[in-house]
Amino acid sequence: TEAILQEWEKLSLVGQMSAGIAHEIRNPITSLKGFVQLIRSHNEFKEEYFNIMDSEFNRMESIIQELLSFSKPQLTNYQKHDLNQLILQVVMLMEPHATLKNIEIKTNLPSTPIFITCIDHQIKQVLINLVKNALEAIMDKGTISIKLNKQDSKAILQVRDDGMGMTAEQIEKVGNPFFSTKNSGTGLGMMITNNIIKHNHQGTLEIQSELKKGSTFTIKLPIDLNVAKMVD
Ligand code: ADP
Ligand code: MG
Repeated sequence: TEAILQEWEKLSLVGQMSAGIAHEIRNPITSLKGFVQLIRSHNEFKEEYFNIMDSEFNRMESIIQELLSFSKPQLTNYQKHDLNQLILQVVMLMEPHATLKNIEIKTNLPSTPIFITCIDHQIKQVLINLVKNALEAIMDKGTISIKLNKQDSKAILQVRDDGMGMTAEQIEKVGNPFFSTKNSGTGLGMMITNNIIKHNHQGTLEIQSELKKGSTFTIKLPIDLNVAKMVD
C-alpha cells in the first residue's frame, strides 16, 4: 500500500504541475494573441506593444528553461567541486546586475576549499536563483551577503539580503509551484531550488525573513554525499 500511495502522490503532483504549467503558459499566449490582433486590425505598430510582447515571450522562455533544469540527474553528473569556486563564479555572473541596481554583493568565504559532491551546474543554478531573488527584493539600494562555512560534516551556505522581506504566509508558500508575488515572476525558481537541494543533494533549506527588514536563506549540504545510495 505504501508504494501505491507514493504512486498516487506522484500522479497527483504531475496533474497539479501540468495544470499549473498549462495555466502559466496560456496567460502569455492569450496576451500575445491579443496584441497580434490589435496590430493587425488597427495597423498600429506601437513600440510599447512590442515591448510587452517581448517580455511575454521572455516569460514563456524562462518557464520552459526552468522546467528543463528540473529533470532528474544521472549518477555520472556528480563530482567533487569546491563550493567557494562555485560561489565566486556566480558572484561574477551576477555582479553587473547588482551594480546597475546600486546593490553590493559581499562574500564571506573560508580560506580553505570546501569540497562537496554535487552537480555543479545545479548548485550554481540554486545560487543564481537565490541571488536573483535577493536582487529583486531590494527596491533601491542595499546589500546581499553570501557566507560559507563548515560545521561538522556539513557545508553551510547563507544568502542574506536587506530587501522587502516576507510575511509568515509568504514564507510558507515559497517553493510551491507558481507561487510568485512578482508581476512577471514564474514562481518556479524556489521549487527548483528545493528540488536540487533536498532531492538531488540531500541538503536542507531554511528561510528566515522579516517584512521590510530582509531575508536569509540557509542551505546545509553534506560534505560527504553518498551518491551511490541516493540514485537507486
Ligand atoms: P519568482 O522569483 O519568479 O517570483 P521564486 O520561486 O524564485 O519565483 O520565488 C517565489 C516567491 O518567493 C517570490 O515571488 C517572492 O514573493 C518570494 N521570495 C523569494 N525570495 C525572496 C527574497 N529574497 N525576499 C523576498 N521575497 C522572496
Ligand atoms: Mg525567482
